[in-house]
Amino acid sequence: MLAPFTAGWQSTDLHPLVIEKSEGSYVYDINGKKYLDSLAGLWCTALGGNEPRLVAAATTQLNKLPFYHSFWNRTTKPSLDLAKELLETFTTTKMAKAFFTNSGSEANDTQVKLVWYYNNALGRPDKKKFIAREKSYHGSTLISASLSGLPALHQKFDLPAPFVLHTDCPHYWRYHLPGETEEEFSTRLANNLESLILKEGPETIAAFIAEPVMGAGGVIPPPATYFEKVQAVVKKYDILFIADEVICAFGRLGTMFGCDKYNIKPDLVSVAKALSSAYMPIGAVMVSPEVSDVIHSQSNKLGSFSHGFTYSGHPVSCAVAVEALKIYRERNIPEHVKQIAPKFQGGLKAFSASPIIGEIRGTGLILGTEFSDNKSPNDPFPPEWGVGAYFGAQCEKHGMLVRIAGDNIMMSPPLIITAEEVDELISIYGKALKATE
Ligand code: PLP
Repeated sequence: MLAPFTAGWQSTDLHPLVIEKSEGSYVYDINGKKYLDSLAGLWCTALGGNEPRLVAAATTQLNKLPFYHSFWNRTTKPSLDLAKELLETFTTTKMAKAFFTNSGSEANDTQVKLVWYYNNALGRPDKKKFIAREKSYHGSTLISASLSGLPALHQKFDLPAPFVLHTDCPHYWRYHLPGETEEEFSTRLANNLESLILKEGPETIAAFIAEPVMGAGGVIPPPATYFEKVQAVVKKYDILFIADEVICAFGRLGTMFGCDKYNIKPDLVSVAKALSSAYMPIGAVMVSPEVSDVIHSQSNKLGSFSHGFTYSGHPVSCAVAVEALKIYRERNIPEHVKQIAPKFQGGLKAFSASPIIGEIRGTGLILGTEFSDNKSPNDPFPPEWGVGAYFGAQCEKHGMLVRIAGDNIMMSPPLIITAEEVDELISIYGKALKATE
């Protein structure tokens, strides 16, 4: 097997950890070893490993109708039900339509085509550029990788595509100037964004895309007043705001969506991952009434929105996602996260004084640890020391899986994690840190 994002062509020769079974917040490898899954699969198994209602939703649908497409004027009941449920779940602003994909990458690719179609419909053929942020992650297809601001996704792939521009990463610890407050930092970044728009010409900029909390770039919550200021800039120049909620949606930050937490009023929203608690692959785009109306009213002139995938609105994925959304609401999962987050955040941030930790950052049930010398973002440890990899291996030894990206460690446990499991997570983290220091 050739594994994604893995060094070495024959990646199975690297003796991967093979996971066989999951149960609540835990997974088991093929040797029966149990691990606390502090990354929830890949930021996605929000309801943990063996939620019977999701399994029942999948099997019932498989027995009834394993597949029919949703093209043209044909569809299935689960895809109609999911569109309704999803639009009702997003209450930050009103969203009018949902379009289904198989992944977050496809959702963000779809956003680009929707925005281009929208501007073509409005007779603005030059308004086509996208602004994303350094260190963002929006996926790994050609377009979503272009939107992403991580060099590894661009180098050797001839990306990003020329219509994508990148603006500052809002990481206060790393990029603030001496004496600059978070608010001042946010003002400077919003001014830089405005300068970029003016330099390129506002009539050429179609959309701005942002994760409420940046995930794969190292877990970076926005600094105070950031989204308020950035939204004011994009609004001023008639630029659409796309919220990439692929990680943040459905409770991760202690609110149903990241947009609720930061008062983001998007025109378009991407979701995936926890949409089905990752039990089946599915992503979605939500479209505001304003954008939807333009697309709808102009479709006679421009022809159909010729975009979609065989499995857009796959009935089994949709049936599972409908059930997942019901569970998030019935069990008030965002409230559970809000209640347990202080224990998770407080318990881990208590390790901040460690001499090998530069910064621990996060909110809700998402947290990043960055190792560095002298508590400084400018003093990384030599990569050949492999500090992050050693810490990750120690966690694994003690029965916990974390995400390792160089000297960044990322955690986003299942949203159903209990107080006792959080204690265990903190205890393993502490043991791994002690061994690494
Ligand atoms: N957007 C964000 C914010 C993500 O974190 C990810 C994946 O981690 C994606 C998009 C891409 O999603 P997928 O891997 O399902 O294509």
